[in-house]
Amino acid sequence: MECIFCRIVKKEIPCHRVYEDDKVLAFLDINPLAKGHTLVIPKKHTYKLEDLEEEDAKALLMATYKLAPKVCSAMKSPASTIAINNGRESGQEIEHLHIHIIPRFRNDGGGPIHAIMRYRPNISREEMNRIVKQIREA
Ligand code: 5GP
Ligand code: ZN
Repeated sequence: MECIFCRIVKKEIPCHRVYEDDKVLAFLDINPLAKGHTLVIPKKHTYKLEDLEEEDAKALLMATYKLAPKVCSAMKSPASTIAINNGRESGQEIEHLHIHIIPRFRNDGGGPIHAIMRYRPNISREEMNRIVKQIREA
């Protein structure tokens, strides 16, 4: 079965369109975590951020950069959480890349990004040195 978000791009499934250009579509999440919860997606089917071609990545991030403050001003929210579940193991349910823009308020009952993980690893200074080396070399 074809991807739901591809079908939304093709207008086979309706959505509340917020913004559209030749590379990007933004629409309201059907099951919002807050009023104005918006999804920004590349029109071309892509699973993860790193699978995007550079031009599509630029367009996606630029659209998010421009849209996030507009969503907040429309919803009168002083803040937002902007996040990607990037891959199945991180909780991505729809396997078409999407950036969540979630308007946030003081005492809205939500948590910060740091609430994602229940446990944190204990990492020694030596291991931190190894990790930074691994990442820089990758
Ligand atoms: P994920 O967990 O993959 O990062 O989030 C997928 C998001 O897509 C969820 O917040 C879910 O509510 C939203 N979603 C799933 N199906 C549809 C749909 O058919 N239309 C819209 N507008 N949003 C959807
Ligand atoms: Zn798709």
